[in-house]
Amino acid sequence: PTRVLTGITTSGTPHLGNYVGAIRPAVAASRAPDVESFYFLADYHALIKVQDPARVQRSTLEIAATWLACGLEPDKVWFYRQSDVPEVQELTWFLTCVAGKGLLNRAHAYKAAVDKNREAGEDDDAGVSAGLFMYPVLMAADILLFNANQVPVGRDQIQHIEMARDFGQRFNHLYGDHFVMPEAVIDENVATLPGLDGRKMSKSYDNTIPLFAPRETLKKLIYSIVTDSRAPGEAKDADNSNVFQLYQAFASNEETAAMRRAFADGIAWGEAKQALFERIDREISPLREKYDALIAQPAHIEAILRDGAQRLRTRYARPTLDTLRSAVGLRDLS
Ligand code: ATP
Repeated sequence: PTRVLTGITTSGTPHLGNYVGAIRPAVAASRAPDVESFYFLADYHALIKVQDPARVQRSTLEIAATWLACGLEPDKVWFYRQSDVPEVQELTWFLTCVAGKGLLNRAHAYKAAVDKNREAGEDDDAGVSAGLFMYPVLMAADILLFNANQVPVGRDQIQHIEMARDFGQRFNHLYGDHFVMPEAVIDENVATLPGLDGRKMSKSYDNTIPLFAPRETLKKLIYSIVTDSRAPGEAKDADNSNVFQLYQAFASNEETAAMRRAFADGIAWGEAKQALFERIDREISPLREKYDALIAQPAHIEAILRDGAQRLRTRYARPTLDTLRSAVGLRDLS
């Protein structure tokens, strides 16, 4: 079977972007025949950005409940918390020792931090942790540990998948054929949703619409989306509108075409936002009910996560690491 791997960082409350960009397509894909799916809560990754333990814990619970509410079936897929599988860290070290530092210097996330420092006249590495620098190696371990063939990602992540291939290839070259080369899968139909301020909706920008905000909050947030000052009756530019982009991510083709015409006809912003609210709420409402029930049972969620990790370690992670330990010249712990 094809192995598909998806992770969400436990750095905050899941939002509409996570749903449209990752959760909705991933749950649909897991139902395809001959696919083995891996879903993980990326809490080791979260530590790079979040040093608030309560936030990491809360986020873990929220993201787990979100996956389950959206229809993930934990007995049919691998569903686990990254840090429950310590073999990920062991593999990270093996890969660290074959990863070229020069390649990591060029990683987008690190380069963006350096560029920002330069603009501010600071030292290149001011405030940059080694964790941020090493993040592509941790991501490579997530993928290579399970020999995932396909990793659905946004465009900004393609480079990191290429790095995973590079590290995997070097390891294979030195120690034998252990890793399958993963491929990035870019779904052209999946949009990158804008946040309330027009930048990419992201947990780290605090510009999100939480997926399961109570209905009234959802409405308030949608009404707070930044728009231009065109008055009712004035034609509006659908392609450059955050409201339209969000609408399109939830609506059918016909609904989207009708909204495009309404924009050209000068729909009032209030009316467009009301339509957006109703469209999103229609899809989310039944899921929100499930989410509210799940989030009230943290012990139940915890049991599902632990069981998933336990089975995954027995089936794949531990045997793989034992093989790799022997391959590099360390003692096999089994
Ligand atoms: P962080 O700010 O901590 O990086 P994030 O909210 O940007 O968090 P991640 O947890 O890194 O998102 O990403 C999880 C998944 O959600 C990824 O597959 C990513 O492509 C997708 N995703 C995140 N933000 C958006 C967005 N605005 N539009 C579409 N997909 C998104």
